Amino acid sequence: MIIIFSGPSGVGKSTIINNLSNDFNFYFSTSHTTRPRRESEIEGKDYYFISEDEFNSMINNDEFLEYERYGSYYYGTSKKELERNDFIVLDLEVNGATKLLTSNDSYIGIFIDIDDNVLIERLNERGHDDQFIQERMNLAKEQRQSMGNFDYIIKNIDLKATIKEILDILYDLEKK
Ligand code: 5GP
Repeated sequence: MIIIFSGPSGVGKSTIINNLSNDFNFYFSTSHTTRPRRESEIEGKDYYFISEDEFNSMINNDEFLEYERYGSYYYGTSKKELERNDFIVLDLEVNGATKLLTSNDSYIGIFIDIDDNVLIERLNERGHDDQFIQERMNLAKEQRQSMGNFDYIIKNIDLKATIKEILDILYDLEKK
């Protein structure tokens, strides 16, 4: 079972996925990225941090199931990550998620959203400047146009309620 989480940047996807892992057993697909590692991130858990040359060579060797450029960096899911007979969770930006969901009916898409004012607050907390925030808000508007390709749309107003809502979905899917 392959579950794809997506939604605008800053909606709390990583926090949600981390919390879900306390109550539900799944394998988190670790992506490759050319973005520099943030201090809190762990190599091989959050991402495999690689150079652009290494990323290009993985593209040339056809190692990616999908990849996208997002902002100034590349992000990709290697085919290897999905070679498991498990519940697999992917955290993808909206373009990559939409492409996978429209190419394979068996993938389940969960779109996470939040109100614009909360999104602005979150991006502010991350220390981004006004121009960057405006760009991300425009992008969020564009990304919401792909919501229709997802099986579930969840507004993350209260984290606890969101987790519960998603756990219910996962338990249901597990029964199928
Ligand atoms: P961040 O730099 O904030 O960790 O991630 C930026 C965006 O890239 C997020 O929306 C995240 O979901 C997305 N992302 C992470 N890994 C992948 C991937 O392998 N493929 C795609 N298409 N998007 C990814």
